[in-house]
Amino acid sequence: MARKRSNIPATDAALERADRILSEPSSPSVDLVAEYGTLADSYRILLRKLNKTIVISDTYQMQFRELMKQIEDTTYKYRQLKDVALPLCVYCKNIRTDNDYWQRLETYFGTHADIMFSHGICPECIKSTTRQLGAWQQKDTFPDIPASSEPPAARSTPKPVEDEILKELHSLLQRSAVTGNPLTPELERVVGRHTKLLRRFNKIVTISDGYQSQLMDLKARLEFSARTDLLTGLANRWEIMARLESEKSRSERHKKNFSILISDLDLFKEINDNHGHLAGDRVLRAVADILRGQIRSEDFCGRWGGEEFLFILPETDLPTACSVAAKLLAKVRKISVTWEERKISTTMSMGIGVFRPGMSIDGCLKQIDGALFRAKGSGRDRFVTVNE
Ligand code: GH3
Ligand code: MG
Ligand code: MG
Repeated sequence: MARKRSNIPATDAALERADRILSEPSSPSVDLVAEYGTLADSYRILLRKLNKTIVISDTYQMQFRELMKQIEDTTYKYRQLKDVALPLCVYCKNIRTDNDYWQRLETYFGTHADIMFSHGICPECIKSTTRQLGAWQQKDTFPDIPASSEPPAARSTPKPVEDEILKELHSLLQRSAVTGNPLTPELERVVGRHTKLLRRFNKIVTISDGYQSQLMDLKARLEFSARTDLLTGLANRWEIMARLESEKSRSERHKKNFSILISDLDLFKEINDNHGHLAGDRVLRAVADILRGQIRSEDFCGRWGGEEFLFILPETDLPTACSVAAKLLAKVRKISVTWEERKISTTMSMGIGVFRPGMSIDGCLKQIDGALFRAKGSGRDRFVTVNE
C-alpha cells in the first residue's frame, strides 16, 4: 500500500526535448509545430497535476508514519497490559510462575510506572541457595540456572502501512479480553484515524495512478511526434539529424563509409498551384509510401523538408548508391495520383554523396546539396554525385 514514490520534477527529459525542438528556428511545418506544441502543453499540465498529487500523497505518507508509531506504542502497551494484568491461574488462583510472567510484569511496570523491583533474595531462598551451593562444592558441578527469564521480545520495527495491520487491529479489538482493558478506547481511536487516512490515501493513489498512466501515454505520443513527420509518417528532420550523427559514429568506429541521398520533387509548386495544397499533400504521401517500400530494412529514409527526402544507406559505396537512386527515381516516375478525376504525376532529382570517416556531417550535406542543385540545373528527374 504505502509506496515509495520518487519525486517527479517539474520538467523531465521529454519536456525539455519538446521545448528545445519548439525553440528551433528550422522547424519544418508550422502546422506540425503547433500540434506538437499543444501536445507538449498538455504534457506540462499533466506533469504539474501529477506533482500536486505526489505532494499530497507524501503528506499522507508522513501522517501514516506518525500514526503507525502511535499504533505501535498503543498496541505494544495494550498487549502487555492484557497479558500481564492478571498473572493468576483461574483454577488454583496461585500467581503463575511459568513462562516469563514475572519478567514481563517487571518490564511492564518498569515502563509504565515509577516502580522499582527489588532484586533482593528472601530468607527462605537464601537458605536453599546455600544448600545448593554446598552440594555443588561437594560435587564440583555448577548448579542449573533456571531458563525461565528470557528477555521480552524486542519491539518490532514499524511495518509498512498495509490493510493487514488494520485487519489485525480489528480482530484484536473484537476479542473478548478487550473488555475492561483501559487502553481499548485509545486503540479504537488510532484504528479509526488509521482507517480514515488509509481511505484518503487510497483515493489519492488512484488519482495519481490515473495521472501517471495518462502521462506515460502522452509521453509516448510526444516522443513519437518528436521523431515522426505527421504528414508522411517518415522520420522528421530532427530524427534524421540524430540518425546521421549515430551513423557517423558507427562509420568512424568501424572505419566504414556510408552513402547519403537527398531528393527533391521537381516543380512541386506547380502541383500545388494547379491542383491545390491538399492534392500536393496527397502526392507527398504517395511518394513517401513508395520510397519507404523501396529501401532495405537497414537503410533509412526521412522527410528532410517540404518536398525533400533524405536517405542514409549504411556501408554502401557510390556505385551501389547510384543504382538505388536510379531505382527510386524510376518508381517515383510511375506514381499516378488521382485527384478530382485528374491524374497527377511527379518526378524527383537527387544529390548523392559518400560519407567517409573524418568528414563532418554538415560539410557532407553541403556537397550533396550542391550535387542536387546541379541535377536540377541539368534538367531534373536525375541524380548527380558529389564528385561529378
Ligand atoms: P524545383 O524543381 O526547383 O524543386 O521546383 P519546386 O517547385 O519543387 O521548388 P520550390 O522550392 O519552388 O517549391 C517547393 C514547393 O513545395 C513550395 C511549397 O509550398 C511546397 N511544399 C512544401 N511543403 C509542402 C507540404 O507539406 N505540402 C504541400 N502540399 N506542399 C508543400
Ligand atoms: Mg525544395
Ligand atoms: Mg522541389
